[in-house]
Amino acid sequence: MRSYQGKGIGKGIAEGVVWVYTSKAAQVTRLSIGDAEAEVQRFQGAMELAGKQLQALYEQAREKVGEEEALIFEVHQMMLEDAKFIDSIECMIREEQVNAEYAVETTGVYFSNVFASMEDAYIRERAADMRDVTNRVIGILHGEEHSLGEDVWRREKGVIVVAEDLLPSQTIQLDRSKICGFVIQKGTETCHTAILAKTMGIPAVVGADFTIEEMADMNGKAGAVDGESGKFYVEPEREVLNKLQNRMEVVRREADFYEQFRGKETVTFDGRRIELCANVGSLADLEHALEQTAEGIGLFRSEFLYLEGDDFPTEEEQFAIYSQAVERMGDKPVIIRTLDIGADKQSPYMELAEEKNPTMGCRGIRVCLKRPEIFKTQLRALFRAAVTGNLRVMYPMITSMDELGQIKAIVREVKAELAAEGVMFREPSQGVMIETPAAALISDELAKEVDFFSIGTNDLTQYTLACDRENSALDGFYDAHHPAVLKLIAMTVENAHKAGIPVGICGELAGDESLLQEWIQLGVDELSVAPGSILRLRGLIRKS
Ligand code: PEP
Ligand code: MG
Repeated sequence: MRSYQGKGIGKGIAEGVVWVYTSKAAQVTRLSIGDAEAEVQRFQGAMELAGKQLQALYEQAREKVGEEEALIFEVHQMMLEDAKFIDSIECMIREEQVNAEYAVETTGVYFSNVFASMEDAYIRERAADMRDVTNRVIGILHGEEHSLGEDVWRREKGVIVVAEDLLPSQTIQLDRSKICGFVIQKGTETCHTAILAKTMGIPAVVGADFTIEEMADMNGKAGAVDGESGKFYVEPEREVLNKLQNRMEVVRREADFYEQFRGKETVTFDGRRIELCANVGSLADLEHALEQTAEGIGLFRSEFLYLEGDDFPTEEEQFAIYSQAVERMGDKPVIIRTLDIGADKQSPYMELAEEKNPTMGCRGIRVCLKRPEIFKTQLRALFRAAVTGNLRVMYPMITSMDELGQIKAIVREVKAELAAEGVMFREPSQGVMIETPAAALISDELAKEVDFFSIGTNDLTQYTLACDRENSALDGFYDAHHPAVLKLIAMTVENAHKAGIPVGICGELAGDESLLQEWIQLGVDELSVAPGSILRLRGLIRKS
């Protein structure tokens, strides 16, 4: 048995099979090799195996989701068999005496750029497939045990994803229905993978004390994740498993106790009502929120829709999701946050400029104001979906009145365009996130111009304390309870109420039980938390 320690996320415990995630593309380095022919043979072997894997994936997909969806794997196979692609790689290995990984990566990037520059939209879209195919071959060359990996994913459930670091775009592309635990070497409690794990109700350990190299041998072994103590075990001994199972029983019993609050009103002991909502990132999360009797969606992180695919979601795709979300929630409010990309949340297709300091860079509303075509598509979808129910729109990362002015000008354009086209829409109520110290400090002015506030304590803490929320080395400095953060929250609540608008909290601090009394005393109107925390928090509020 091996055991590792990190920070625990979520109260649960999970047992499953370890699957080690490695980002293949990031690891390619140029090496000089002595025997080019042997390297070409190694490349050919990898291509053969990649072909077999794709055939198996094609057959699996055809069985599970149908011929049309399976075709993509046939396209990948055709790419692998392309003579020009193979020749370029073999030539490069022979002429430049370089390793196969480097030749595959370089050729893949070249082909993918050629595809991306084509006029034909279908061919352009193949650029991402080219990257996928080359990543597969590089992974095999790296000696990743793909067959083992795929066996793990064929299980009904019970995969423990172990990674050095996991970007939201990578997490979102995993089959979430099979994941029972996350163990991340670099993450922090407020990194987006931790938030995603919480939203999914899955235990996680972040900032774990291993190196990803030593994890390579753990692939496919039995593992256990303890979200409470922050322990991760590989091949846990019987005694440890017994203890974990006993604790699991306690967690189950506690959950049973809080079942009595299902569907109840969230009122304090002395009768003050608090709206208890859920944070979600997808329609699947929203179902979980409904099942937990959330009183609304306090934060729909719409950027996850953008991270799932290889291109921006179209207006129609977004409209379908937003209208389904509001319809499912009935008359309960659904606050959809406009695209909050940048920093850790980005995908290659977005082509965001590389930044030295992305957390302080072009993210959230700044991206939308710089690229209004992306913003307008989303606003059109949102305003159209607002006809179907209680949809509200929220803008992230606000720092100035000027930004609000620019948003309003774009909103006016969108409304005029929709009206001119005769498209049905409704202007929903619109609010801003208070997640920068600047926004909190001008919250008196902002409050006069918007319909509601929601306080994003994850970023508010990060920017107030100048402390990167993704950096596990800053553990201990990132203190969401810091008086400066609490002062800014209190100031925001007071300014909202002076202007007569409601204010909620949707950052992780909303579910921090040690601050519940503080929120009640301040008069916070709404708390939005991970779906799995709803019943427990409701029980605690009713006792307060
Ligand atoms: C926050 O910053 O507190 C927030 C809720 O937004 P996100 O965690 O998605 O940045
Ligand atoms: Mg934020």
